[in-house]
Amino acid sequence: MAGNWKMYKTAQETQAFFEKFNALVAAAQGRDVVLCPTFPSLPAAVEATKGTRIGIGAQNLYWKNEGAFTGEVSGPMLTAVGVKWVIIGHSERRQYFGETDESVLKKTVAALEAGLNPIVCVGERLEERESGNTEAVLGTQFNEGIAKLTPEQFAKIVIAYEPVWAIGTGKTATPEIASDAHRFIRAQALAAFGAAAAASVRILYGGSVKPDNTKTLMAKDDIDGALVGGASLTPDSFAAIVNF
Ligand code: PEP
Repeated sequence: MAGNWKMYKTAQETQAFFEKFNALVAAAQGRDVVLCPTFPSLPAAVEATKGTRIGIGAQNLYWKNEGAFTGEVSGPMLTAVGVKWVIIGHSERRQYFGETDESVLKKTVAALEAGLNPIVCVGERLEERESGNTEAVLGTQFNEGIAKLTPEQFAKIVIAYEPVWAIGTGKTATPEIASDAHRFIRAQALAAFGAAAAASVRILYGGSVKPDNTKTLMAKDDIDGALVGGASLTPDSFAAIVNF
């Protein structure tokens, strides 16, 4: 269960969140709990979660380790402050910052080389769904990005299916729509990496997940967890999702 804070929360607000949140999820078993704050809030988040099972993730990274790349942050720089996870290819990065399947692949490989756990996002836009192209879009995103990993690399990633029309809109995909997409993505994984790898890869659903819709989404076999934006910003609501 991963939370994406997008461009919200200062370091002080981050600390205040964990002062309340840590106790609320202390008894959570059998699931990873991950929060992804902004870059400047990462050290505060790592400090505030020391000694807990909560992992901290970044929302992006660059694929070079260092160099003249103004404004970028590398994998080794993230691990140096105690970050364990990183979201890659979120639809907002694809839409506003020019990320492509090619950059997503490079970032995923760089994250793995740095020892980070990548959460790689895929998902179709509204017009792509309405024109019947959901599977074509997901297939391209998978095959141009994820399928080019080695089997060893694939075994270490988490995939997030996030239909763009459901992100931040309050329009959650129905459990059936989400589950159909997850099954399709797992079939791509089967074709590229075989049955064992496809069965064990975790596929998260993201798009207006809230405490009151988590249970029905998670009841679907192919949905292994959630990537949560808005509802991860308050301790009570994200804890309710984690503890569904
Ligand atoms: C997200 O940012 O990845 C997301 C799914 O946002 P929200 O839960 O607010 O739709």
